[in-house]
Amino acid sequence: MLGEMEDERGGMVGKEELRKRPHRRFNPLTREWVLVSPQRTERPWLGKVEKAAAPAEQPYDPDCYLCPGNKRAGGARNPDYKTTFVFDNDYPALLPEPILETHAAEDPLVLAVPEAGICRVVCFSPKHDLTLPRMTREELREVVRTWTQEMESLESLPWVRYIQIFENRGALMGASNPHPHCQIWASSSLPNLPSREFDSFEAYQKSKRRCLLCDYARLELEQKERIVCENQGFLAVVPFWAVWPFEVMVLSKRHVSSLAEFTPEESELFGEMLKRVTIRYDNLFESSFPYSMGLHQRPSGMGDCSTWHFHAHFLPPLLRSATVQKFMVGYELLATPQRDILPEQAAQRLAGTSETYYLDQNRI
Ligand SMILES: [Zn+2]
Ligand SMILES: [Zn+2]
Ligand SMILES: [Zn+2]
Repeated sequence: MLGEMEDERGGMVGKEELRKRPHRRFNPLTREWVLVSPQRTERPWLGKVEKAAAPAEQPYDPDCYLCPGNKRAGGARNPDYKTTFVFDNDYPALLPEPILETHAAEDPLVLAVPEAGICRVVCFSPKHDLTLPRMTREELREVVRTWTQEMESLESLPWVRYIQIFENRGALMGASNPHPHCQIWASSSLPNLPSREFDSFEAYQKSKRRCLLCDYARLELEQKERIVCENQGFLAVVPFWAVWPFEVMVLSKRHVSSLAEFTPEESELFGEMLKRVTIRYDNLFESSFPYSMGLHQRPSGMGDCSTWHFHAHFLPPLLRSATVQKFMVGYELLATPQRDILPEQAAQRLAGTSETYYLDQNRI
């Protein structure tokens, strides 16, 4: 029983109606939310890929729905784009509907709340085979510029509370298309993880009068045990508390809360860091390294969120080779994550990896 909800016109939204639209449900055991997108079941089912999708080897694929000039599943045709290309996802998990005023749930054990949002796709380049580690400085600058622009335009919507920019790379991560792209989901509520991080930033600031990640960056720069690489603007580390074997966190050295606060120089330096981290990843097992990467930026439209410190997470599943991956199952799924390789060892391995792309090494 989802309870009845009142919409902005004063009408009631029944539980059957709610079940047709994007909403989130509260788990009273973990006190976390799960996002439910029932309208997405209308999406064409592509079926599970039997073999691992090989990384793209051609700059254009006539069957790719992200390549310039091609038709997408929803029927629209991509323009003949030359740099980055942004479009609204044809099968979005969230819909930009007005947010409904909700009554208290019938019973807090079955609490569901409508959720509004916008889901966009950003193609990094018209080239089907051009991944982040192989992009030029100018091409990376264009990607960061596009993210910033999207961030600013989505943030101008008064109901948006959070903007998640993320890239799923590789078939292992469920990416169905090797064409380099990322997604941007703007939502009307603050999702689980950013919400917990925000509470931590606020609590640390309150008790120490300092920023949690400014202090952490300082500690990593002093200890020098977990640094993967750095430039003037950013620091890449395998965090002390990393869960995934080669997890990396990229932190801004200056206290900024979002891309929108970057100087032009910082935008360029951030693009450079993305390249340097992903080159190391691909070089580590001489293969296209799968990962989920996401930018964690301050919430939107919630007043002063300046305690937030900009950072990006790279969460890759590979463990020992291009085919041996870590699984989050059993104890980890039910109790607490566990790891074998020390984060310090993982950082050393990544730090000791060449910054020349492995396929280009023989040409030098
Ligand atoms: Zn393509
Ligand atoms: Zn800070
Ligand atoms: Zn984070």
